[in-house]
Amino acid sequence: MVRVARVLPGSIAEELGIVQGTELRTVNGRELKDFLDWEFLTADEELVIEASLPDGEDVEYEIERPEGEAMGVELEPPTVRRCANRCEFCFIEGLPKGLRKPLYIRDDDYRLSFAYGNFATLSNVKEHDVARIIEYRLSPLYVSVHATPWEARKKLLNNPRVPNIVAQLTALAEGGIQFHCQMVIVPGLNDGDVLEASLGDLWSLGEAVISVALVPVGVTQFSHLYTGKPMDADNAARILARVEAWEDRALAERGDRWVYGSDELYLLAGRDLPTAQHYGDFAQIENGVGAVASLRERVTNGLGRLARLDGRRIGVVTGTSMAALMPPLLDQLTAATGAHFEVIVAENSLFGPTTTTAGLLVGADIQRALTGRHDLDMALIPAESINEGGVFLDDSSFIAVREELPMPVFPSYDFIDVLELEGEPAGSSAQSTTA
Ligand code: SF4
Repeated sequence: MVRVARVLPGSIAEELGIVQGTELRTVNGRELKDFLDWEFLTADEELVIEASLPDGEDVEYEIERPEGEAMGVELEPPTVRRCANRCEFCFIEGLPKGLRKPLYIRDDDYRLSFAYGNFATLSNVKEHDVARIIEYRLSPLYVSVHATPWEARKKLLNNPRVPNIVAQLTALAEGGIQFHCQMVIVPGLNDGDVLEASLGDLWSLGEAVISVALVPVGVTQFSHLYTGKPMDADNAARILARVEAWEDRALAERGDRWVYGSDELYLLAGRDLPTAQHYGDFAQIENGVGAVASLRERVTNGLGRLARLDGRRIGVVTGTSMAALMPPLLDQLTAATGAHFEVIVAENSLFGPTTTTAGLLVGADIQRALTGRHDLDMALIPAESINEGGVFLDDSSFIAVREELPMPVFPSYDFIDVLELEGEPAGSSAQSTTA
């Protein structure tokens, strides 16, 4: 059964009399277990839907749905499948206590992998799930592989019952499913022969594996499970050398790079980051693969849209890892606008100084960085640090933080998104748009 959260005005569902709270039980005789069933089973044009209205009345709808017309219901969010692993490097295990509850949910859900690109280990996927993934063609999936040798994977996931990932991927691949894979590299566990064997196994799956991202382990001061070493520059360089060897092979045999090191690996190794062309369609950008190249490209492409802002003083708050990359970008912005940009490096007070990512800065960090800065006309902060509800990870609201600060503050993904609005006629400025 799935429950209706909202019925869209003028939709088929409204015409039928479906209302918020209606329980949708079957479609064409097949039981509805979640949003995927609803999505796929209602793809037919002739539908018989069994439902129960909120007052308890059972109803049956017979519908001929015009091709392409949506039913017009939004469902209540699904119960997320929880993770059965206990990885030492788990980001959630590295969260400090006292944050809001949803942040501690360790999801491992192939449905969210398909729908939203969340990585899943497939550890809790059973045979009937495999059949369902194939029937509904849930492809591509985003899979946390970490290692393919079974014993190494059990150790990495801290779960002796984890299934054999090669067997799982093979079964899914035979059903036409493709994957974007990630490996979190933990020094001593999967950075040497295990990494080579894993890349070999994934390569053997052919076109089914679209891309593989290698991401260095990241630990916070709260990562109480982690017993390994942090990733260092030499190790990062060795991993990148392996990436490049596989890239060469993939380019020669497949025409694309196939395997990518995350931006953080390049930064740790002290290497220049590749340009945007390196990353093709940026399939793993959410995983920190090509994020800097994409930012650089967006800035370069957006300069022509900026108006002159001569003499304006603009603070750019960022984490320590991005700070070193900022000056060339800000020089471009200065040349295009005449504004003076200042990089303001904020240390992460919630996770500790080892967490240097700008997107993990919290409200208190922003406040500390900008309090008393009456000399600034405007400040830009990382938009990634705020969720859809306008709240930082430390539960402070963006609006509350902004109100305490002496200058207009704007969340920004790439500077251009805010600055291009600054040049527009009065009344449509960035300030009024985002306030
Ligand atoms: S698979 Fe590992 S890293 Fe992912 S949520 Fe589970 S324990 Fe955490």
